Amino acid sequence: MYCPQCGTENAEGTAHCIQCGAALEGGQVFQPPGGAPQPLVKNHLVWSILVTLFCCLPFGIVAIVKSAGVNTLVAAGDYQGAIEKANSAKKWIWISFAVGLVVIIISIILQVLAVLSQKM
Ligand SMILES: [Zn+2]
Repeated sequence: MYCPQCGTENAEGTAHCIQCGAALEGGQVFQPPGGAPQPLVKNHLVWSILVTLFCCLPFGIVAIVKSAGVNTLVAAGDYQGAIEKANSAKKWIWISFAVGLVVIIISIILQVLAVLSQKM
């Protein structure tokens, strides 16, 4: 596995990086060709921003805060915390999406009812 801090290759199962001493346990690291090693923790930040803009502002902001915290935890080498935070962000994205969807559906129904009542 590769060290998330410095990119040094360490033997599988090594607890700490031989180069810089960063904790490696549970750290899944993906190394793109020609790039620096990146941890395999998605922060869902793009989706958090999208649901905030298009669905539900208050819940979307919670998702953004949690998503932003994922990178901080990854940088600190806390993969377990980062994964938990990412899952939490994903949950809030879905809540925000669901609330936004319900609001949109209700507004469509109200508009349809308004049009129907005008015709009657
Ligand atoms: Zn290292």
